[in-house]
Amino acid sequence: MPDHAPPAVHAAEHDRSAIRFLDLDTPYRLLKQDILRAMETVLDSHAFIHGPPVAELESALAEHTGAAHVVTVASGTDALYLAMLAQGIGPGDAVFVPAYTYCATVNAVMHTGATPVLVDVDPDTFNIDVRDLRHRLDTLDRALRPRLIMAVDIFGLPADYPALQALAAREGLLLMADAAQSFGASLNGTRCGRLAPVTATSFYPTKPLGGYGDGGAILTDDAALAAHCRSLRWHGMDDSRTESLRPGTNSRLDTLQAAVLLAKLRLFHGEHAAREQMAAHYAACLRDSEVRPQLIPEGYHSGWAHYTVRAPNAAHLADKLDTAGIPFKRYYQQPLHWQPAFRHLAPDGGLPVTEQLAKEGLTLPMHPYLTTGQVERVCAVLGT
Ligand SMILES: *Cc1c(COP(=O)(O)O)cnc(C)c1O
Repeated sequence: MPDHAPPAVHAAEHDRSAIRFLDLDTPYRLLKQDILRAMETVLDSHAFIHGPPVAELESALAEHTGAAHVVTVASGTDALYLAMLAQGIGPGDAVFVPAYTYCATVNAVMHTGATPVLVDVDPDTFNIDVRDLRHRLDTLDRALRPRLIMAVDIFGLPADYPALQALAAREGLLLMADAAQSFGASLNGTRCGRLAPVTATSFYPTKPLGGYGDGGAILTDDAALAAHCRSLRWHGMDDSRTESLRPGTNSRLDTLQAAVLLAKLRLFHGEHAAREQMAAHYAACLRDSEVRPQLIPEGYHSGWAHYTVRAPNAAHLADKLDTAGIPFKRYYQQPLHWQPAFRHLAPDGGLPVTEQLAKEGLTLPMHPYLTTGQVERVCAVLGT
């Protein structure tokens, strides 16, 4: 099927098949011939590091998102870390991070030497709560310099960038997006990659645009910042690689991953549309239930890395899904500030919404190859 037809979303014959939490198999089967050919070209060329597909992918991602500059790197974590380094984030700096996120966001901040300041999240969107952020700014330890807001687009939903941008401008702060889960998302027509001045995304295999290994990218309209990141990913050298300008590291996306991602990108539009349809179907099926899906405010389109709901009886619903053989996850069930590595970051009074979501969050199957019948089967088990 090398003609890249959009996925057959409603193929009824799939309805009785086992429901997958994620589907890495179908896109592989759809693209297998293309991917093998692209990989063979790379192998034949021996251009394993920064062969032509890397620059091609960067152009394609720039075109896809509208970002002026795309710098691919070895992982989403490196994208976060290197973009912060390039902006001069380091010891003594406070970086504001939502507490309801994957540990990589906080790890990347700590790796720069800066101090993560955990911020609670909104009970409906599950994204950084701008009011709590205001409070953390007002009560910040005097020894720290407030420098950067690191918003996270949790489960694929963009954070409230207009409000964050306004606050950042008022307070003289930098703003970044951890868009590891939100490639393909948009807000009022602006795509993920241009919603914040600097965006970091991930190509980990299970992310909306997933490769067959690790990978990530920094997206920005700032040419100087992009050049700095390009230097950092290649040992801090200049473009011609004759001079070391600064201490850097090795964080290159390898050519094989770029070739795979270029092939996967061709399916992306149809895949994202299918995710949106399945999300809409979940929302319709769950409308009269006690289960509350992540709120998608007006003007927002999620990348739908995951479909997450909150329910007071999440543990009971999890048991029911288990019994019915339906896969699910309970992401961030152990809040970061309760874990050994980050316990010292717990604020007085805790982070009540994050702690509540840890108890009530339930992530249901979501991928472009679900069928409406499968979504209905999941919702039926949830008791609707
Ligand atoms: C996956 C993820 C990352 C890290 O990306 P990697 O490519 O695995 O390094 C960072 N932040 C969030 C929110 C993620 O989900």
